[in-house]
Amino acid sequence: MLGSGVPVTVGAGLASAAERLRATSDSPRADAQLLLAHALGTSRDWLVAHTDARMDPVLGERFEGYVRRRSCGEPVAYILQAAWFYGREFTVGPAVLVPRPETEHLIDEALAHLRGASGNSPRLLDIGSGSGAIACTLAAELQGAEVTGTEISPTALDIACENARRLGVASRCEFILGDLAVPVRGRRFDAVLANLPYVPTAQIAPAPDPVSFEPRLALDGGADGLDLYRRLLPGLAASLQPGGLVLLEAAPASMAALAALASDAFPNGTVSIGSDYAGLERFVRVRER
Ligand code: GLN
Repeated sequence: MLGSGVPVTVGAGLASAAERLRATSDSPRADAQLLLAHALGTSRDWLVAHTDARMDPVLGERFEGYVRRRSCGEPVAYILQAAWFYGREFTVGPAVLVPRPETEHLIDEALAHLRGASGNSPRLLDIGSGSGAIACTLAAELQGAEVTGTEISPTALDIACENARRLGVASRCEFILGDLAVPVRGRRFDAVLANLPYVPTAQIAPAPDPVSFEPRLALDGGADGLDLYRRLLPGLAASLQPGGLVLLEAAPASMAALAALASDAFPNGTVSIGSDYAGLERFVRVRER
């Protein structure tokens, strides 16, 4: 160790950090690697191959700062200001939810539907875009698609716009500030996706859980988690083209209730439930006739 307490080599730094992160993280070693690679401006592979390399003390201090933040529970994604979704890197920060792997199922479902059924330039709507992970991914995967995202948080909206620019899809993505589908009233879309806040208020994890660092605005779905879907669904049929698809992510425990709300809102639609990677019921699917 240096006088300041910063370990000298990459290997010692990783070992010391992983030990300290064990109390808060399920993946202390991987977290330590990600944080050190970020601090040194290198890759995890390089770290693994250079455990004897000496660390620059200034960069070592930077790493120590990241480890302290992570040991207080802050998500790695906020420290890195980056998260991966559907194979692409997104900028994230405390104003947006960190994109989750389970949400990738909505993308798979939408792509299967749109690649098969729609014309060359489908119009897609993502309600409550957050970082823009869903909207930008759809635009990137479907070359002709025009994607609209709505978002109530101006800071999140800026991040979504930045992600669209960084991923080269800004010309086919528009993000509009406003509540749910209100900003697009009178327009119709081939698919509507939403990953609205759906955690029941009493179940929002307290610190140091990483979720406690995420915006309540993006998590809190009211007493049963369905407050926002209850506001969104009535009238949503007017935003959907005939033959269109709706995909709504929510908590497994809310699926039956959300499917019932969707059936009321789409009396001509076929409503079903889809599962995530863990086999948990995770989204409601509506196919409109
Ligand atoms: N999947 C997130 C969680 O469980 C919640 C996302 C949301 O509310 N839309 O923490």
